Amino acid sequence: MAQISAECATGSTQGILERVYLERKCKKCFAVHVWFRGHRLSRCDTRLPVEADDLLCIVDSTDEPKTCGVDKVADQVKTWRDGMPAAVVAIGGGTVLDTGKAVSNLLTNPGLAEDYQGWDLVKQPGVFKIGVPTLSGTGSESSRTCVLMNPQSRIKLGMNSDYTVFDQLILDPDLSVTVPRDQFFFTGMDTYFHCMEYLNGQNRTPVVDAYAEKAVDLCRQVFTADEMQSTINRERMMVASYFGGCAAGNVGVVHPVSAGLSVALGQHHGVANCLAMSVMDEFYPRETDEFRRLLDAQSIQLPSGICCDLSDDVFDLLYASTIVHSKPLENALGPQFRDILSPAKLCDMVRGL
Ligand code: ZN
Repeated sequence: MAQISAECATGSTQGILERVYLERKCKKCFAVHVWFRGHRLSRCDTRLPVEADDLLCIVDSTDEPKTCGVDKVADQVKTWRDGMPAAVVAIGGGTVLDTGKAVSNLLTNPGLAEDYQGWDLVKQPGVFKIGVPTLSGTGSESSRTCVLMNPQSRIKLGMNSDYTVFDQLILDPDLSVTVPRDQFFFTGMDTYFHCMEYLNGQNRTPVVDAYAEKAVDLCRQVFTADEMQSTINRERMMVASYFGGCAAGNVGVVHPVSAGLSVALGQHHGVANCLAMSVMDEFYPRETDEFRRLLDAQSIQLPSGICCDLSDDVFDLLYASTIVHSKPLENALGPQFRDILSPAKLCDMVRGL
C-alpha cells in the first residue's frame, strides 16, 4: 500500500478546488468529462477555478482512452503557454482519470504513451496530479495504473507504476448524483470484480485483503438496496471504489476476458466486465450466482447477441487480446493458464453472449 499516497477528503469540492487554486497560482491543466461542458460540477453550484493561463481539455468518453489520444493531449499541454503546468486536475470517470494520469506522466517522461504500457516502465514522477471522480467503480482514483487502448498493437494495457498514483484526491458523492442508473451499476460492479478476482487469486497481502473484503461488503449493501443511488449508497460506492482500486493490480479471469471483449467488440469496460462475469460459472461459481442475483435485484439487463455471429478473425482477436494478460491469468489459474483457458474453452464461454 506504500504506493497509495493520496490525501482523501469528502465533501466540499468547491473549497478544496479553491485551495488547490490558491496554493498553485500557476498554469494548470484540467481534464474534464465532456458532460460538464454545459453543467455545474454539482448541485452545490461548484465551479471550476479555471484561470486564463490554465488549459481546459474536454475528454469524451465515448471510446475508452487511446494511447494516441493521450499523446495528443500531452502535446497540447506542452505547447500551451510557457513551462510545465503546476498540476493536472482530472474530473470525471475512469476514462478522464486515466487520461489525466497518463498525461501527467507523459509531461515528464520522453516518448509516447505506448512506450510505458507495461509494468514499472515510467522512470520519472509525473506532474502533480489531482483526481476528482464523478463516477465510482473503476478504482482509477486509487490504482497505480491508467488503462489505455493501443489501436496499432491492439493491446489494452496500463502504465502500471508507482508514479501513476494520484497525489491528491477529492471524493465528493455529490458529484455522482446525475449518473444514469445502468451506468452506475455497470461501473460500480467493476469494484466488486476487482475485489472478488483479487480475493480468489494467489497474490494476496493482509492489507489489500482488508480493503477488498470491505469493498465487497459495501458493494453488497449498495446493489441489494431498494434505492441503489441514494446519497448514502453513492457515498458507500465512492469509498468502495477507492478501496477496490487498491486490489485492481491483481485481478483474475474476468478482466482479461473483459479486455478481449473491449478490443474485439468495442464494449466499454463496465459492461464488458459484466458480460464476462455472466459466463464465469466454472471459475467463480459462487460469485457468478451472486452477480446474477444483484442484476435481478436492480432489474438491470445485459446486452445480448453480441457474440452470436463472431467471424474467425474477430474470435482470434478476442482470444489474443484476452490471453495476452498473463499476469492476472496466472494469478487466477497458475502457470498453466494457457492450457486451461484454451481457444476452445473461451469460444464455449462467450458463445451465449
Ligand atoms: Zn476494472
